[in-house]
Amino acid sequence: MTTRIIVAVFVAASSFLAAFAQAPQQGGDQFLDGIGETGLVARYLFSDNAEDSSRNQFHATLSGTGAEFVEDGQFRRVLLLTGNGSYAQLPGRTLEGEDTISVAGWLYLHAGASGPVFDFGQSASSRLFAVASKSGFRASVVTGGTVRGEAASGTIAENQWVHFAVVLDPASRVLSAYVDGAKAGQATNVTANATDIVNRTSAASNRFFLGRSQQDGAATLHGRFRDVRIYRIALTDPQVATIQTNALAARQQAAGRGRGAQPPAISTAAIPKESVFAARLSHVPDITVDTVVGTLPRLPAAVRAVYRDNRQGPDVRVLWPAPTDTTSVAKAGSYTITGRVPGTAIEPKANVIVKVPVGTLTPPSRLAEAFPLSAVALDRDASGRETPFMKNRDKFVSGLAASNPDAFLYNFRDAFGQPQPPGVKPLEGWDNQTTRLRGHASGHYLSAIAQAYASTTYDEALRKNFLGKMNYLIDTLYDLSQKSGKPEKPGGPSVADPTAVPPGQGRDGYDSNLRAGAIRTDYWNWGAGFISAYPPDQFIMLEKGATYGTRDSQIWAPYYTLHKILAGLLDSYEVAGNKKALEIARGMGTWARARLNAVPPETRASMWGRYIAGEYGGMNEVMARLYRLTGDKAFLETARLFDNTAFFYGNAAREGGLAKNVDTIRGRHANQHIPQITGALETFRGSKELPYYAIATNFWEMVNANYMYSIGGVAGARNPNNAECFIAQPGTIWENGFASGGQNETCATYNLLKLDRQLFMYDQTGKYMDHYERALFNHILASVAEGDAGNTYHVPLNPGAQKRFGNAQMNGFTCCNGTALESNTKLQDSIYFRSADNGTLYVNLFVPSTLNWSEKKVTVQQVTDFPYADTTKLVIKGNGPFDLKVRVPRWATRGFHVKVNGRDLALKTTPGSYVSLGRTWRPNDTVEIRMPFGFYLDAVVDQPNVASIFYGPVLLAAEESGARTDWRPVTLDATDIGKSITGDPATLRFKLGDVVLKPYYETYGRNSVYVHVTVK
Ligand SMILES: [Zn+2]
Repeated sequence: MTTRIIVAVFVAASSFLAAFAQAPQQGGDQFLDGIGETGLVARYLFSDNAEDSSRNQFHATLSGTGAEFVEDGQFRRVLLLTGNGSYAQLPGRTLEGEDTISVAGWLYLHAGASGPVFDFGQSASSRLFAVASKSGFRASVVTGGTVRGEAASGTIAENQWVHFAVVLDPASRVLSAYVDGAKAGQATNVTANATDIVNRTSAASNRFFLGRSQQDGAATLHGRFRDVRIYRIALTDPQVATIQTNALAARQQAAGRGRGAQPPAISTAAIPKESVFAARLSHVPDITVDTVVGTLPRLPAAVRAVYRDNRQGPDVRVLWPAPTDTTSVAKAGSYTITGRVPGTAIEPKANVIVKVPVGTLTPPSRLAEAFPLSAVALDRDASGRETPFMKNRDKFVSGLAASNPDAFLYNFRDAFGQPQPPGVKPLEGWDNQTTRLRGHASGHYLSAIAQAYASTTYDEALRKNFLGKMNYLIDTLYDLSQKSGKPEKPGGPSVADPTAVPPGQGRDGYDSNLRAGAIRTDYWNWGAGFISAYPPDQFIMLEKGATYGTRDSQIWAPYYTLHKILAGLLDSYEVAGNKKALEIARGMGTWARARLNAVPPETRASMWGRYIAGEYGGMNEVMARLYRLTGDKAFLETARLFDNTAFFYGNAAREGGLAKNVDTIRGRHANQHIPQITGALETFRGSKELPYYAIATNFWEMVNANYMYSIGGVAGARNPNNAECFIAQPGTIWENGFASGGQNETCATYNLLKLDRQLFMYDQTGKYMDHYERALFNHILASVAEGDAGNTYHVPLNPGAQKRFGNAQMNGFTCCNGTALESNTKLQDSIYFRSADNGTLYVNLFVPSTLNWSEKKVTVQQVTDFPYADTTKLVIKGNGPFDLKVRVPRWATRGFHVKVNGRDLALKTTPGSYVSLGRTWRPNDTVEIRMPFGFYLDAVVDQPNVASIFYGPVLLAAEESGARTDWRPVTLDATDIGKSITGDPATLRFKLGDVVLKPYYETYGRNSVYVHVTVK
């Protein structure tokens, strides 16, 4: 884990303490009582308002008479409900998509009182609720009108504070009730889970109460509340005890504040350390690797092994030590590194030869280019069926077509103090009124509308719809941006200089208060060109050292949000041709440049190193794009101002970091850092400076080798204890990954795909598109709900897990709900590439589609049932010579057979590369390809006995009837796992013993993506 994160976490916890003990304010909750914020759904301090102090900002409303905030001897100020019909109600989307719920809080029951503590559900026949009286605290879960579990305590005290907690844990099938930090009652064999009591598609149907029951007219609670929290994880006994103790203690315990691995959520007891395949291996020959002085060698993740039967190959995974500096390569010479093959005693050696670099290296050229979105259309498959790609596209296209752009403009108009069109409601989720990330969804929306416009060439009405929306959005944003830094009325005061923005009128300093009536709207003081969905304060506060949190002195991630907006504007220009969008981006780019130019380098290093607060998405990328689109070199210089020194270069002297192949990924927040890499690559495109290219390629190699799960995503760390972070050390997914809060943040995979395709443009090797295919089919395609546009945040890969889908109505966004709009309006963008000189066509992905290659006046139709068949057919319409390079996937180890115009070609092909089919093509020429699928395992990097089962490109998940507390055991044939699996390749439905396997992207219920493998 990086020192920086420890510091950030410590600061956050300390400032929380200060808030709780001394001032009744909101605190940052990144690590609260040792639990990362990804586990926290909402937190109501109830010190002087009913706001949710978590980043989700699910603010409650108080109803009825008699609810008030009162002085309290123990907790200073608390919420009092008088029992006269008053209660608190949480927003209907608070538990959207949740599966597991824990509720914890402080309750003070007035003498003689009895009644509802909380009641979450839709009606009396569908709810999780708790009641309290002197005779006890009782939690119940009811579905379909039947009580599924009940857990009750003995008597509880009146007229004093009692800590309560309720845990509904579907994995263990228990409902537990806690009183004062100790388990007081438990129901077992509870089959209900949170999804059963929540209406995911109609938030209005959900009724989440504190102090009130689902039964209208029933008595409300006479009592007091303090610090009520809702978690999406099953709190453990120690966690509940810690929450209770910390609130009473003078200071929080240091333990568990993100340091050290949390225990695994799933039992690992049954799984041996030794690989069940170890006995087959003989040895792994030593290897030799070259490097240059000052740069760590790039060691292969897999090495050809020799087996007991003298077979050479296949490769085995080797884990090499990963130094944190470059002392081992400080001078020319040679040295030896010892690696290990996980699950075996084999220790291969690498002989490293360190050379003095000779001459200067030539930067690689961008030899391949993507086609415009409008040049490629998704088609039905060869059997006439809609493909999963088309289905997901259409869920989003129809949602976007029906969306109201004014909802996405609401917070922009609000920031500039402008009236709203009648009837417009603001967005919810991370884009609600008080969320300091507001505007981020609007940026994704701009990109998505531009892409939908470009992609819907098949439907003129849709195109017209999207063009109208785009122009309306851009016109409105343009008008707002033109107000910034100019007098409200002629002759009035104004500040045009972005570096001279004063605090809001009547304020001592800058703050992030966005509440209605409190937000500053003096746009004339904001500097020329400024555009955002909030005033400039958060940018200025970041420069002055503000940290991430929900207090008015804290910020979220201003440059992250700005990146989304600028990317949306540039997409509107580049993808859909809107010139005004470029002008808005140029103005705001100039504003950001002016501010950052005035900030000393060491301050910038501190800003970009600050957890979440300094998260800037791909600001370097949009700045480098602005340079490319405008020719103004100052924007390229601005891109460099976003260099994350520690991450990229190790230190200010540039002695390490990714540029020198030192792994600086460890423990970092995944999605904070991945876009910085695509930004480095775009900066390389503009500058031709090799370190930026090395940063991107080294990062890609490290992430793919040592940080990745089988679906092609990353993060989900137990160490550091944050599901959004990369694991603390490379190659330790088993040791440090599989967090209970989830893995594989979907926006992170969106960004990894972007990196794949951008690297491919420089280097047309198979590996980039191998990852692209894996993550596209098994994560992006798998991240959308079955019947609507709901989509995933984290994708959980623990056994018996279930995907959670949110934002079906496109009205409340997390980061991942934002990137989902983009992913699903550009699903066709990497099927084909062309060489920059238009001499070569690359066929990267096997997806039914039609390419219109206008430069060559050639159309290529791909006709296939893939992956429900292992064949594809290309039909070429048009004339002329060009090379056709077809990807031979890494998994195609059973042959790759090509026919041109019906005649077999005798070709030698290598999995993980491209086969070249150059000729002068004639109309209706056909290329038929067959690439027999096989079953294979993709094991956890440091635990070979836990693996995912693949069939060709498709990850097969095991269906589960319920949640699990262990890893799904399966027994496979030791030499050919396919012998143990039966089923139908045409439907991709298989059986392994009595376990049903099917594509993960078609799985919506409980499943195991990883299984515990034994062999026979
Ligand atoms: Zn995300």
